[in-house]
Amino acid sequence: MNSATNIVWHDTSVSQQDRHQLNNQTSAVLWFTGLSGSGKSTIANAVEKKLFELGKHTYLLDGDNVRHGLNQDLGFSDTDRVENIRRIGEVAKLFVDAGTLTLSAFISPFRQDRDSIRANIEHGQFIEVFVDTPLAVCESRDPKGLYKKARAGAIADFTGITSEYEAPLHPEIQLQTDQFSVEQCADQVVTYLENHGYLKGPSLAL
Ligand code: ADP
Repeated sequence: MNSATNIVWHDTSVSQQDRHQLNNQTSAVLWFTGLSGSGKSTIANAVEKKLFELGKHTYLLDGDNVRHGLNQDLGFSDTDRVENIRRIGEVAKLFVDAGTLTLSAFISPFRQDRDSIRANIEHGQFIEVFVDTPLAVCESRDPKGLYKKARAGAIADFTGITSEYEAPLHPEIQLQTDQFSVEQCADQVVTYLENHGYLKGPSLAL
């Protein structure tokens, strides 16, 4: 809720379309969502590398890094998780407006929060990427040892164990990391961008 008054949105003289033309791409946020250990960071990094190699302008917003800075005042209660994601959604929106192919890798467990961000961004510029990895697989990977700690009761509100994860109902992209390699999953995302016109200048009816 905006508590300030007399604030007017300024249109800038360089438009988003101008930036798309300059960058030869159409900006959007690839919003990776999935359980801890599902592969969001790993795949988002692989996708960013591929896009960089194609000469595209990208930026990756990663869960842990944002929690060290912008959101260091927030914890993992339901209320703090909602605020965490709301702020990241606003940052992603700015990056998209700046003409950047933006990637975000956050568990973002609640459907309503993801849908609010989608609603706040131009149609076609929010691409939900569901990293669909079964809990048992995430738990067996346990790259940060968090599941072990959560099962031992050392972490409260752990998504998938003691806090809910609401899977997307209609994600633009669904990645089955238990069946396909990191490389294959990253290719699936890049192919989607290619096929839908994001890797060239203004072409989408935004
Ligand atoms: P998240 O960001 O979702 O918490 P991470 O990317 O940090 O997950 O960890 C995922 C782990 O799973 C990494 O150790 C990664 O190497 C491993 N992994 C194995 N197969 C895959 C795959 N096909 N896609 C993504 N990650 C995979």
